[in-house]
Amino acid sequence: MHLVIIGNGITGISCALALRQRQPAARITIVSDEATHHFARTALMYVYLGHLRLQDLKPHEDWFWAENQLELVHATATRLDTEQRHVYLSAGPPLSYTHLLLATGSVSRFYNWPGQDLAGVQGLYSLPDLERMARDTHGVRQAVVVGGGLIGVELAEMLHSRGIEVTMLIRDAHYWGSVLPPEEAALVQRQLAAHRIHTLYLTELAEILPDAQGRVRAVRTTAGGEISCQWVGLATGVTPNIGLARASGLETDRGILVDELLQTSAPGVYAAGDCAQHRQPTAGEVPIEQLWYTGRMQGQTVAHTIGGEPTPYRRGPWFNSAKFFDLEYQTYGQVPVRLPAGEQTFCWQHPNGRHLLRLNFRAADGLAVTGMNALGLRQRHEVWDEWLRRRAPVTEVVADLARANFAPEFFRRHEADIVAAFNRQFPQQAVVPGRRQWFSFRR
Ligand SMILES: Cc1cc2nc3c(=O)[nH]c(=O)nc-3n(C[C@H](O)[C@H](O)[C@H](O)COP(=O)(O)OP(=O)(O)OC[C@H]3O[C@@H](n4cnc5c(N)ncnc54)[C@H](O)[C@@H]3O)c2cc1C
Repeated sequence: MHLVIIGNGITGISCALALRQRQPAARITIVSDEATHHFARTALMYVYLGHLRLQDLKPHEDWFWAENQLELVHATATRLDTEQRHVYLSAGPPLSYTHLLLATGSVSRFYNWPGQDLAGVQGLYSLPDLERMARDTHGVRQAVVVGGGLIGVELAEMLHSRGIEVTMLIRDAHYWGSVLPPEEAALVQRQLAAHRIHTLYLTELAEILPDAQGRVRAVRTTAGGEISCQWVGLATGVTPNIGLARASGLETDRGILVDELLQTSAPGVYAAGDCAQHRQPTAGEVPIEQLWYTGRMQGQTVAHTIGGEPTPYRRGPWFNSAKFFDLEYQTYGQVPVRLPAGEQTFCWQHPNGRHLLRLNFRAADGLAVTGMNALGLRQRHEVWDEWLRRRAPVTEVVADLARANFAPEFFRRHEADIVAAFNRQFPQQAVVPGRRQWFSFRR
């Protein structure tokens, strides 16, 4: 067996490590063009903030790869011959493979704005992006961040740490309008205001304007306003990196199309992580998952299949977490912006505006909890995963919230308030803290 993996991100590396465990003798080659060694993309901002050095982003020492007989090739894969099973590289001889994994990740998505190629305009995805940002924000006084999502806030925090005045252009009526209900968004907005990030909602980028040297000097918005700035961060999302797959004749849509075993349309070729698009996602799943932990899960799952034990990819309950400046955010299950028919929602907020807990549940399904958002409260993954898988009734969840609390000494201060608020909103389901009540509500 010779497995060739294209991409040394979390997906490619997770597959390599999982296969090495199962097959100590398999030949495994990892081709990647961004960095010679795997690094934690999610921690890029901490290098800019000065909390970590670049070498701290590498979870393994450089000797680890040779020690585990993982061959690293620092090159770009330029073409695939899926008939002959060859990968052509920008440098060096082609590689022949028995199995091939495409783990090529994402690329930043821009919308052909006039001026998007000017000096001082960029996205943040890769190591070169980080280096460019560090160079081009040096001495900058004002910056504009386009996009109100997770990377947008990261950029705002990074710029703020260097004393740069930041204006965010946000298309929706509130922050991360496609994901967060308005109450959650209001907490994030408070964080942004507390850090003097200027936010313009219902505002889009129209044009980026150059100075005489071809560097950005201002942006014009769809509202007609002009905002002076010397740097622009485009945080308008990412899209699967499918160029190599498409040019090589694999079936693609927005991503590289895969079945539940993560097999592409070509025999022996698999795709996983950010670049993959599931042909038939099961209920509650999305076709394209662009997260760190889903990349790891997909990489590990496909290693089983490649190793001879066909294993369908099943993600389990959705979760995600992030930090908006000082505000921690976790979400489990499904909490759409608009409440689905048949669901009810309970939303508790501390009067200080720094803590929020939302629980969605389905009355017709034994009050089964369907999703949770927590801001300023850290919850335990394993407890929420178990509640969602079991479709635990919201009454059990509310009564037993302390079990999910990651920092009980802190959380105890809010638990009684949350129960009291729940009982006021749903008197017919009143719960007593610390007492499990699920048995009385199961169908
Ligand atoms: C700034 C930032 C912060 C993030 N924070 C979070 C977070 O907090 N939580 C979270 O869940 N997710 C986060 N994400 C998303 C997460 O990082 C990605 O979902 C994850 O890294 C995807 O992993 P991957 O291995 O599929 O792809 P990638 O990490 O993109 O790795 C793919 C690699 O393949 C290489 N490659 C592509 N094509 C070729 C080719 N033809 N030849 C050679 N090499 C090639 C690329 O250069 C790249 O190095 C963040 C992303 C960014 C950019």
